[in-house]
Amino acid sequence: MSGLWHKIKRKWMKLRLHPIRVFCLHHVCEKFDAESMNQGDWMQIDEFKSKVLALRQRGVKFIALTEAYKHICKDWLRCKKYVVLTFDDGYASLKEILPWLEEQQIPVTLFINGKYLDGKSYRKSPKEKYLTKEELFALTSPLIEIGSHGWEHIRVTDMTDWEFRTSVEQNVSLLSTHPNYIPFWAYTYGTYTDFTENYLHNQHLVLLYVDGEKNYNDKLKLHRELLK
Ligand SMILES: [Zn+2]
Repeated sequence: MSGLWHKIKRKWMKLRLHPIRVFCLHHVCEKFDAESMNQGDWMQIDEFKSKVLALRQRGVKFIALTEAYKHICKDWLRCKKYVVLTFDDGYASLKEILPWLEEQQIPVTLFINGKYLDGKSYRKSPKEKYLTKEELFALTSPLIEIGSHGWEHIRVTDMTDWEFRTSVEQNVSLLSTHPNYIPFWAYTYGTYTDFTENYLHNQHLVLLYVDGEKNYNDKLKLHRELLK
């Protein structure tokens, strides 16, 4: 009976709340570079623009992640279609797409790994290019929000609890000096543990996952999907 009641409640929630979709992107740029990018993380600029404009034509409104979160926490009834764009990892290729997004007045959230802002460090290949600290801190448009993605791009399941805590402290202490910092955390590779969940909640960080789901009213778990 409780299963049936749960199903009815969920259906009722879906009837009154239009889902908010949060997309997770990486590289949106002119050329794919096999030495520094994964094919699945890259989208050609024109393809991206046409997807964004097609969403707009369907009546979708692009909003900032913090605004979406307010809706998720408060809305009892939501008829509008909202979409949020987020970019992970802070690649230098952002410089190719951010000006167009600004021109279109589309807000974005960047999830950053602090370590790679030094212009020398990288995840897998020295060919990878990231925004530098100067470039990131020069992004002060009110359309841009800066969230955390860990000090380094490591799976939380490959870290000890101590390493994870240090990674959070280091990243947050650097990024929180950015005027557009928001206390939101996107897990690397979408993986997490009970410890990381508890720790980040205690740090008052809002958590985001990449699980392909849409958002209704669950403020403890913000879902993201890939833009295809
Ligand atoms: Zn990432």
